[in-house]
Amino acid sequence: MAQRPYIVGNWKMHGTRAMLSEARAIDRAAQRHMKVEVAIAPPYTLIHPIHREAEQIGVGAQDCHHESEGAHTGDISAAMLADAGAKFVILGHSERRQAHGEKDSVVRAKAETALGSGLRVILCCGESEKTRDAGKAIEFVKKQLKSSLPKAGEELGDASEKLTIAYEPIWAIGTGKTATGADIAAMHGEIRELLVELYGEDQGSEIRILYGGSVKPENAAEIFATPEVGGALVGGASLTADSFMGIALAAAETEDS
Ligand code: PEP
Repeated sequence: MAQRPYIVGNWKMHGTRAMLSEARAIDRAAQRHMKVEVAIAPPYTLIHPIHREAEQIGVGAQDCHHESEGAHTGDISAAMLADAGAKFVILGHSERRQAHGEKDSVVRAKAETALGSGLRVILCCGESEKTRDAGKAIEFVKKQLKSSLPKAGEELGDASEKLTIAYEPIWAIGTGKTATGADIAAMHGEIRELLVELYGEDQGSEIRILYGGSVKPENAAEIFATPEVGGALVGGASLTADSFMGIALAAAETEDS
């Protein structure tokens, strides 16, 4: 059975308690769009307050450490996030891979630790502009996913419930550029084949594949009409309830059409 479209806001390093009113507005609006699963990943400091108040939206984190505890000053564990009310964690975002040197093996270790703590995982992948211009985007993304995704097995459980993929071309993040529908469809189709190969037909065909990279209310309908797009990971446009829920509304309307 196809899952609901999943619209996830990545607030990045934006948001003090003053942003709680925006989270409340997103939560209220999400109650009117039950055909869509809406979630936000605020900074760590806002996870617990949003979790306590939210009635409809899911709350998650933007990263976690690959070990479950230890002498890691300044880091945060998956268990701490779950304790604060997080239900999922975004892992392998290109800003972590680039600014913090996160390799695929670390992303995989983080994913396995997060799953072990009961969190769902949104695993990001995406190519640079140079890789796309060289005609190697699909090859690169498949290799990145193969070595970042958690292994199938008892610990993972049902991959379609626990895992979401976010395809985010690096050159489209925060730039106002978006991939063409044809490029998104081609990439998501290849990712789907890989997921079926790794997790089997039943689970691999149900894992949602989100698109991310300058999604806005204005371009959302076109993106959601693209084959194999199961939702969006949204950065800048998730910071206000108006623009974020404009995207969720586009997803709900695609479901209706
Ligand atoms: C992101 O960083 O995950 C993202 C998609 O950002 P933006 O929507 O701002 O491009």
